[in-house]
Amino acid sequence: MLDCAIIGGGPAGLAAGLYATRGGLKNVTLFEMGMPGGQITQSSEIENYPGFFDHEKTGMDFMDTWQKQCFHFGLKHEMQKVERVSKTGEHFTVTLENGEGVESKTVIVCTGSTPKKAGIKGEDTYFGKGVSTCATCDGFFYKDKPVTVLGGGDTALEEALYLSNICSDVYVVHRRDTFRAAPSTVERVERKENIHLITDTVIEEVLGDAMGVTGVKLKNKKGEITQMDNPGLFVFVGHNVNNAVLKDEEGHFICEMSEHGQVIVDLSMRTSVPGLFAAGDIRIEAPKQVVSAAGDGSVAALQVISYIQEQA
Ligand code: FAD
Repeated sequence: MLDCAIIGGGPAGLAAGLYATRGGLKNVTLFEMGMPGGQITQSSEIENYPGFFDHEKTGMDFMDTWQKQCFHFGLKHEMQKVERVSKTGEHFTVTLENGEGVESKTVIVCTGSTPKKAGIKGEDTYFGKGVSTCATCDGFFYKDKPVTVLGGGDTALEEALYLSNICSDVYVVHRRDTFRAAPSTVERVERKENIHLITDTVIEEVLGDAMGVTGVKLKNKKGEITQMDNPGLFVFVGHNVNNAVLKDEEGHFICEMSEHGQVIVDLSMRTSVPGLFAAGDIRIEAPKQVVSAAGDGSVAALQVISYIQEQA
């Protein structure tokens, strides 16, 4: 019987593993379907993690020491995909892809989320080289430069507002003539002089060279093709929340979820099921940053330690 099963080895899962093991739990296993590190390993640079300021290092280099630190303190790692978590009596069963069931007193789910791609020509080629899905992460790279934003929902317009404080101009491209975002957000956007709304238009292609994105090719409803020479493209067409492990065999969630499929937690990362915790990008109102995912993981692990003590 494990003290704690951690599912997902991104910043939330690794921080949870560090705090759980250093906090005295003996049997803690991290189940990660790939190499530990999470989404940030796809990034060529991380500039906003406090205390880490090394332009030579990639997201992969940055996360490498996290796992070493955890394993040093006794975290065990199984490279396995988890199918499902279920509560059996007082304990949990973590069912692995190979069919094996692992019993645990507590579970912390840290399976993260995946930004959706728009499927535009050139998007994959220039992802991380000018195409971004995170204004907080990458906006500063375009300080005083013009950028393009793709999307028409709340996230797209909120992120456009964030970028408008850093970039010279923000061009929001939306395929419809009205925005899905809240009317108050649309009004705030319309009041910003350096945000320009381009409606009834799609992005046909991301243009670039060996250095990264150089612009975008646009096509409007009338079929007219134009080009904008902006070095950054921010794509906000939604996130897939990796919540499948929380569904039972009938496809029902085992804990309370938001309408967007995020796990509802309190400030201690407790879900509606005692002993089950969620941390990082998978939870409601996640800022989707490494620093906050790590903070969540530490909070969840400290709560796990208290929970086990209370149950003893
Ligand atoms: P994730 O990092 O998504 O980790 C989840 C892990 O769970 C993954 O490793 C996945 O393999 C695993 N997993 C999922 N399902 C299962 C399963 N069923 N079984 C086993 N394992 C599973 N943030 C910043 O703060 N600064 C930046 O500069 C920055 N740049 C970014 C650049 C890019 C290209 C991307 C994609 C993201 C960036 N982010 C940045 C965001 C940041 O990476 C995320 O907010 C953070 O990684 C979330 O951590 P997490 O642990 O919640 O989830």
